[in-house]
Amino acid sequence: MKELQGLREVFGNDLIADNGRKLSRYAIDQVGDQSYARRPDAVVFPTHRDQVVALMQWANRNGIPVTPRGGGSGLAGAAIPAPGGVVCSFEKMNGIIEVDTGNLMVVVEPGVVTSHLDEVLKPHGLFFAGYPMSEDICCIGGNVAENAGGGRAIRYGTTAHYVLGAEVVTPTGRLLRLGGKRLKDVTGYNLLQLMIGSEGTLGLFTQLTIRVVPRPGARGVLFAAFPDSARASAAVTVLRRLTALSSLEFIDGQTARLTNAGLPRAQQTALPPRADAFLLVELEAASEADVAREMSAAAALIGESEGAVVDSGSDEEPMQRVWRLRKAVPWWTKRVAGSYHSLEDVVVPPARIPALVEFADQLRTRYATPIAVFGHAGDGNFHITPMKPEAMAPGQWSGTIDRLLRDLYGHVADLGGTISGEHGIGRKRTRYLSLVLSAEEIAVLQTVKRALDPNNVLNPGVVLPVV
Ligand SMILES: Cc1cc2nc3c(=O)[nH]c(=O)nc-3n(C[C@H](O)[C@H](O)[C@H](O)COP(=O)(O)OP(=O)(O)OC[C@H]3O[C@@H](n4cnc5c(N)ncnc54)[C@H](O)[C@@H]3O)c2cc1C
Repeated sequence: MKELQGLREVFGNDLIADNGRKLSRYAIDQVGDQSYARRPDAVVFPTHRDQVVALMQWANRNGIPVTPRGGGSGLAGAAIPAPGGVVCSFEKMNGIIEVDTGNLMVVVEPGVVTSHLDEVLKPHGLFFAGYPMSEDICCIGGNVAENAGGGRAIRYGTTAHYVLGAEVVTPTGRLLRLGGKRLKDVTGYNLLQLMIGSEGTLGLFTQLTIRVVPRPGARGVLFAAFPDSARASAAVTVLRRLTALSSLEFIDGQTARLTNAGLPRAQQTALPPRADAFLLVELEAASEADVAREMSAAAALIGESEGAVVDSGSDEEPMQRVWRLRKAVPWWTKRVAGSYHSLEDVVVPPARIPALVEFADQLRTRYATPIAVFGHAGDGNFHITPMKPEAMAPGQWSGTIDRLLRDLYGHVADLGGTISGEHGIGRKRTRYLSLVLSAEEIAVLQTVKRALDPNNVLNPGVVLPVV
């Protein structure tokens, strides 16, 4: 690409264009279907905001699409480049600029890995509460661009609740400084919140100001087995009332057992063979004694819901054991089903969880397809994950999954839910947007996109289909 000469002048050695093996590493994120992979023509690694400004001005001059990228852990294909595109990887902008313990805020570059921020905050007794469960591989910029939600969103909310300020390079290459170290701000339209969750289509974050919170004094977990998913999902409604609740996760019985069996023996949890669903309940409070009291209350509610606690504790070991199992589930689906699975992210009003879980059971029968059901039950956010049956020819899968997803999404909409709670629309769900947004809403989204990105060069084809 002859236009690349202009970029070489800006990025020098921080540009790859002719090493196919290295470029391939930026062709896909963690979306299941590998057919989305598309190698970029070049990857640039900015170390300063001015380079990002120059990149977007170059992109507009030459009509070349740019895709921002953090850790590449996204599950919807939002970091996959457009044809003939350039990836802007923020991995070298990974500095923690300030830990402001007076204000309980941090100022960071977008490429900071989420778990690294946690390590830095730990000695200060603080943490970033909006983290997702991929914390070892995702970056703060990616979390903000996806408005990620984590295992503790039921208590703390999603990433958007913690972003107070952002330095943003617009698609046309202007620098905006939005918000700041302020806990309140009603000064004009809320452009900061517009940028959050925009999946790299409205701006590139080059610096972020994030609110952090005190770490709790103590935490405890209970892992409970239920005879069927109906009783487990009914228990979710009851357990959501616990004031100390910090996580409430669901795993269907078969998925929990198979994932558990795939872990090294020393890390496995003893699971009853006949349970059909499991709940992970995490509680937090100021002291060990308070947590112990809350755990007893939770255990009583689980018993009343016909569940049985099969693992529990407030020490590091039981906590790690049950969380390891929960976190291993998406990797297990990927390992067993490869390209032929679709990790979904639907969200419904919490009171409709039993109806959603029951519908997932119906889909298994209707499509004769294995479906893993797991996720952030406390938020009504389920990762319903259909996987190709072994006997089905690969060529049949794309038609089957399309019909199944339309069925699922239609039902979720009827329940008052939507098609993504935290993973976003990406490239994977653009064609389904009209199932949950009206033509008027989509037209407004397109107007916003055109106003900020008149040449459609920033992550085109993500969120909105290219028209
Ligand atoms: C095992 C596993 C568990 C997961 N668990 C969760 C979970 O609990 N909750 C959850 O919400 N998600 C989860 N995810 C999904 C994913 O990790 C999150 O969406 C994460 O926030 C993505 O961050 P990233 O740095 O990897 O972003 P990427 O995948 O690199 O990019 C995601 C989006 O952000 C944009 N982007 C990246 N950096 C910037 C920037 N600086 N400026 C503008 N746009 C940018 C990209 O263009 C893309 O649109 C999980 C994924 C995996 C694989």
